[in-house]
Amino acid sequence: MKGSINVSVENIFPLIKKFLYSDHEIFLRELISNATDATLKLKHLTSIGEAKVEYGNPKIEVKIDKENKKLHIIDQGLGMTAEEVEKYINQVAFSGAEEFLEKYKDSAKDSGIIGHFGLGFYSAFMVAEKVEIISKSYKDEPAVHWICDGSPEFTLEETTEKSERGTEIILHIAEDSLEFLEENKIRELLTKYNKFMPVPIKFGTKTETLPLPEGAAEDAVAETIEVDNIVNNPTPAWTKAPSELKDEDYKAFYHELYPMQFEEPLFNIHLNVDYPFNLTGILYFPKLSNNLNIEKDKIQLYQNQVFVTDEVKGIVPDFLMLLRGVIDSPDIPLNVSRSYLQADGAVKKISSYITKKVADKMVSLINENREDYDKKWDDIKIVIEYGMISEEKFFEKSDKFALYPTTDGKYFLWNELEEKIKPNQTDKDGNLVILYATNADEQHSYIQSAKDKGYEVLILDSPIVPHLIQKLETSKEKISFARVDADHINNLIKKDEPAISKLNETEKESLKKNVEESINDTKFTVQLEDLDSNDAPFTITQPEFMRRMKDMQATGGGGMFGMGGFPEMYNLVVNSNSEFASKILANENSEEKNAQIKHALDLAKLSQNLLKGKELTDFIQRSYKQLEK
Ligand code: ADP
Ligand code: MG
Repeated sequence: MKGSINVSVENIFPLIKKFLYSDHEIFLRELISNATDATLKLKHLTSIGEAKVEYGNPKIEVKIDKENKKLHIIDQGLGMTAEEVEKYINQVAFSGAEEFLEKYKDSAKDSGIIGHFGLGFYSAFMVAEKVEIISKSYKDEPAVHWICDGSPEFTLEETTEKSERGTEIILHIAEDSLEFLEENKIRELLTKYNKFMPVPIKFGTKTETLPLPEGAAEDAVAETIEVDNIVNNPTPAWTKAPSELKDEDYKAFYHELYPMQFEEPLFNIHLNVDYPFNLTGILYFPKLSNNLNIEKDKIQLYQNQVFVTDEVKGIVPDFLMLLRGVIDSPDIPLNVSRSYLQADGAVKKISSYITKKVADKMVSLINENREDYDKKWDDIKIVIEYGMISEEKFFEKSDKFALYPTTDGKYFLWNELEEKIKPNQTDKDGNLVILYATNADEQHSYIQSAKDKGYEVLILDSPIVPHLIQKLETSKEKISFARVDADHINNLIKKDEPAISKLNETEKESLKKNVEESINDTKFTVQLEDLDSNDAPFTITQPEFMRRMKDMQATGGGGMFGMGGFPEMYNLVVNSNSEFASKILANENSEEKNAQIKHALDLAKLSQNLLKGKELTDFIQRSYKQLEK
C-alpha cells in the first residue's frame, strides 16, 4: 500500500529537523524509550493475561552498520500490526503511549511507560534521510515493513523478513550526521541517556574469562566466551525500597553515578513519594571542602529512568544545588521553558517536598548519632546555613539540627547555646549577646580575652554568615550577635564586681587628651575603660553595625547600600587601669610619650590586622631600633 502521512502541514520533516529538539542526539534516547515502552507494554499485557505469550528476558539491541551507514534499534516488545503502524506512526503527533495509559489507566499507571508527546519517533529524521520499521506484533498477524524517506510519502507492506516478535528501527544516517555511526559516539550517548533504563540494552559483545574449574592444573588456560555487552543497569538503587539497601549499596550507587568521584559521600537521603506527585530519587551530601567537580557532577533528573537533564534549577531548591544524586519523576513537565517550570504547581510541590525531606533527614541524623553529626557539621554547614536564609520552612525547623560551633570545638544546638551563655552573656536590657569570631587566627587576641572573661565564642566562618546572623536576629527574641572585636562586647554585664578605677577623673581626662593628640586620626574614637589591669592597654574595636554592613556588601547582600564606601570607623579602647596608662600619664617627656602612644596603637592595629604596608615596615624598623638600645 501507499499513502500520505496525515499531517496538516505540507511537509513537517524540515520543521522537525530544525525546531523539534535543539539537540539532535536525543533521537537515540527517543527510539530507545519507544523500544522500552514496547517491552514494558508487553510485560504489562502478559501480567494481566491479555497477551498470551512468553515474556521471557527481553533486551534492546543497538547495532551500527558503518559500511551501509545504518543504525539499528531492535526490541523484543509488543510490536505493531499494519493497522497500528498506520495509526501510531502515520498519524504524526498521535501518542500511542498516552492512549495506552488512558486505556489501561488503573493497572498501568506504575508501568513506567515513557512516551508523552507522540513526536519522539520522528526525531529519527533529525539524523536519518530514510527510516525503516520492520515490526512483528505479539498478535497473530504478519510482520510489516514501513519505509519513509523524509517526505510525507511512505510505503507500508507485509513482509516475511521477520518472524520474531518485536520491532526493528533502521536509520539510514544522513551525510551531515555520520558521527552517529561512530561506536564511541553511540556509547557516549547510551551512557548519558540510557545508563539506568529498565530494559537491558545490548551494544556489541565483550570477551569474558571463565573461572577455572576447581582443581584445575596450574598451567591450565582459562576459557573465554563472547557475551552481550549490556550498557545499562536496569535496576538502579533509587528504584528499590530503602529497606532493601545498605549503606554500601548507596555508596556503590554514588560511584556508579559519578565514576570520576573518589571521595565518599557524607550521607544520603532517599526520596520516595507517590502522592500528590510521583517522585523517587537519592540525594547525596558530598564533602564540599575539597570539591573539584561541582560543575560536572550535578544532580541528574530522570523520567522513568530516562536521563533528561542535569540542569535542575527550579526543581531542586537553590540551596540544595550543591548536592549530588538523582531525582526521577514522571510529573515534571519537560520540553518547556524554565520560567514555566518555576510557576508550575507540581514543580513547586516537589521543591518543598525535597526541602522537607532534607530537614527531616538532618533531624534523624543528629538524633541517631550526635557525635558523628558534630563531626560532619563543617562539611554540611554551607548547605544548611544557605537553606536557613533562603527557605522559611527550613529555617523554622533548623533549631533542631543547625549547630553553632565554639572556638573550643564544641557544637551547640540553639537551645543548648542559649542555656550555656544565659548566665553571663546578657546586656543591660536583658538581651543575650552571642559572641562570634569569623577567623580564629586573625581574631586570636580578641577570642583569648573574651574567653579569659568566661565568655563562649562561636566560630562562624562561612561566607554567608552575615546574612545568617541577620536572619537569626530578626527571627529570635532578645538576642544580638557581636563579633569578638566589636565594640559592644563591653556592654556585657560584667559578672565580677566592677573594677576599681586607678585613675581619678582629671587624670582620665588628661590621659584621653594625650592619646587623642598623639594619634591624631579621626578614624579612631578614643574611649577610656576601667578594665582589668592585665587586659591589653589599647584595644581596637569596630562598631558591629558598620562592620556587618561592609560584610553584607562584600557577600552581595547589601542591596540598599549598593553604593559602597562605608567610612572606616574604629574605637580605640584605652584600659585606664593598665600599667601602661599610668606610665604615660606620669611621663614628662612629651616626645617620648608621643612615641609610646604611637607604638601602642601600632600594636593594637597589629592584632586587628590593620597594620599594613609602610606603617608595618616603619613599625618593624622602629622595633629593631629599640632592641638595639
Ligand atoms: P510516544 O512515545 O510519545 O507515544 P512516539 O512518536 O515516540 O510517541 O511513538 C509513537 C507511537 O508509535 C508509540 O506510542 C507506539 O505506539 C508506536 N511505537 C513507536 N516505536 C515503537 C516500537 N519500537 N514498538 C512498538 N510500538 C512503537
Ligand atoms: Mg516515544
